[in-house]
Amino acid sequence: MKIYSIIVAGGSGTRMKQSIPKQFLLLNGRPILMHTIERFEALSDEIIVVLPKNEMQTWKSLCEKFNFSISIKLIDGGKERFYSVQNAIESIEDSEGIVLVHDGVRPLLSEKLIQHIIDQTQKGLLVIPVYDIQESIRKQENNQNKMVDRRLYKTVQTPQGFHLSKIKKAYQQDYRSEFTDDASVLESIGETITLIEGERFNLKITTPEDLMLAELLINAWT
Ligand code: C5P
Repeated sequence: MKIYSIIVAGGSGTRMKQSIPKQFLLLNGRPILMHTIERFEALSDEIIVVLPKNEMQTWKSLCEKFNFSISIKLIDGGKERFYSVQNAIESIEDSEGIVLVHDGVRPLLSEKLIQHIIDQTQKGLLVIPVYDIQESIRKQENNQNKMVDRRLYKTVQTPQGFHLSKIKKAYQQDYRSEFTDDASVLESIGETITLIEGERFNLKITTPEDLMLAELLINAWT
């Protein structure tokens, strides 16, 4: 079965307080999104990258500037992440295959994690990487707060792996605001999600501090 990797980078990244979308900011001298795409290159049959419609030209200029030549299919992003993924799914003509969906702003994952997700998805599971919560957590509601047992909760990462036929069916639904990842979309049509151990530093680069941390890590590893 073919492996389709969808890398969503269709957001404008307002939390980064920069005019340039965060997926284009430089990490170790090259755009974050290029690092992310490279992680998937050897493990995918096709890479589909979703970008904001008005940033296609910027991306093309960046590819020239940084000599980036990995073959990808570019798709226009939508108003919400949900619509960005939906556009990518609709561009796949096959009916069978494995689909990985990954946030473009998570460049630090290992190929080992991607391979593990592919292996489990090939066994028929719908798989997402999660990570234990390191800190104590509290629920705050109506001016009251209360401790909760952190062992009951996990943070959710990407890539998330699904069978093409199932993700295609799930994305025929209407958008709901609680759909913050793909597993939530598949779960809402009755699918069961399998959790595997994610990676501590599979960071979602969201703030300037995240970018600083990613920079430190990448330099420590190389
Ligand atoms: O907004 P959030 O931080 O959840 O975004 C996670 C990923 O989804 C990012 O890589 C972002 O570029 C992407 N995204 C998208 N289309 C949107 C919003 C976010 O592809 N409309």
